[in-house]
Amino acid sequence: MSDAHTLHQLKQSLDSLDFALKSGRMGTWDVNLETNTITCSPKMLKLWGIKPEEFNGDRDLLQSKVHPADVDNMQTLLSQAIKNGSVYELEYRIHPSPGVERWVMSRGRCTYDLDSNIPTRLTGVVFDITDSKMKEEALATALKSRDQFFKIASHELKTPLTCLQLHLKVRQWELNHKYPDAFSAQNIESELQKLQEQVLRLTRIVDNILDESKISEGRMNLQREDFDLNFMVSEVLDRFKGTAQSSAVDIHYSHSVALIGNWDRYRLEQVLLNLLINGIRYGNRKAIYVEVTKADNHAILIVRDQGIGIKSEDHDRVFERFERAISENEVSGMGLGLYISRNIVRAHGGDIRLKSKLGEGSEFTVILPLKS
Ligand code: ADP
Repeated sequence: MSDAHTLHQLKQSLDSLDFALKSGRMGTWDVNLETNTITCSPKMLKLWGIKPEEFNGDRDLLQSKVHPADVDNMQTLLSQAIKNGSVYELEYRIHPSPGVERWVMSRGRCTYDLDSNIPTRLTGVVFDITDSKMKEEALATALKSRDQFFKIASHELKTPLTCLQLHLKVRQWELNHKYPDAFSAQNIESELQKLQEQVLRLTRIVDNILDESKISEGRMNLQREDFDLNFMVSEVLDRFKGTAQSSAVDIHYSHSVALIGNWDRYRLEQVLLNLLINGIRYGNRKAIYVEVTKADNHAILIVRDQGIGIKSEDHDRVFERFERAISENEVSGMGLGLYISRNIVRAHGGDIRLKSKLGEGSEFTVILPLKS
């Protein structure tokens, strides 16, 4: 084969390599270990956010763009590759410009002088893997959140189910032992009430789970109608009387003139119920105050308790999905009520605010636009 032909083939190979490097978001680097200088392809410099004229082969400039937490690992692996001849491979973060972070994967190998076996060069490639890293992270977060969801949901469902199971077992035992008093009208009535409470609890948990998935899929549709907020609040408080009494909690309600809005009645009832249930759960059995007022062209609904309160660092977090400011051993809960409530209020063009200090009670304010 002629020299010309060999050169032509070599040029073709280099062109193909150049094409592969350009289209593959890949850069190359080469460290001359004798002079301690680095040569980088334009692609790599671009990835690092360095203009070719700024780069004089200095390692410090390249390293200054590497995430500080990744530098030690990078240096250890590079030293190992030089010492053992092993392949150097590492995924790490770089900051091409302030506030910008990208993930890269670098792979390289050392070459040695044939006679002296002294390491002479370290050569490698670098890929931009930011997109796949983001997908990987999103997937890991989704999996973690799914696991967390199963853990919380099964824990929450277990309590009312165990309670129902226990009631059934006791009834069965009473029936087997022909225990006549157990089936008096009075006993059956109180039993039915307890069973109903557990079924309501189960229904609430399942509804919350369904709502959470509706919100995350953007399917929370509002069935709007015109109604008076005061009227809705009185109705809910009336229905809630039994629960408040059985928890020995007084509820004080102060209302205003009719406040008409075009809202989803069922959804706003749900918001108020969530706030009332929390007022009982976390309210230290002290009275709850509900107030409806008007400010400009907004209706304001306030639910205030005198309970355990929430420390200011947790004020934003408690409105997030599955977030709780209290351990599950203290009071059970899914951490969904406030998340769902805020989504409902925001879907109405309103907002929900929290004023609270640890140990000094909590005040939730729901702001809703009135009908114009
Ligand atoms: P859940 O009560 O089921 O955990 P929520 O979303 O309703 O879920 O509330 C989230 C967290 O906010 C609760 O776990 C609790 O730590 C805190 N929280 C909510 N309401 C109150 C309140 N009225 N007083 C004190 N803490 C509250």
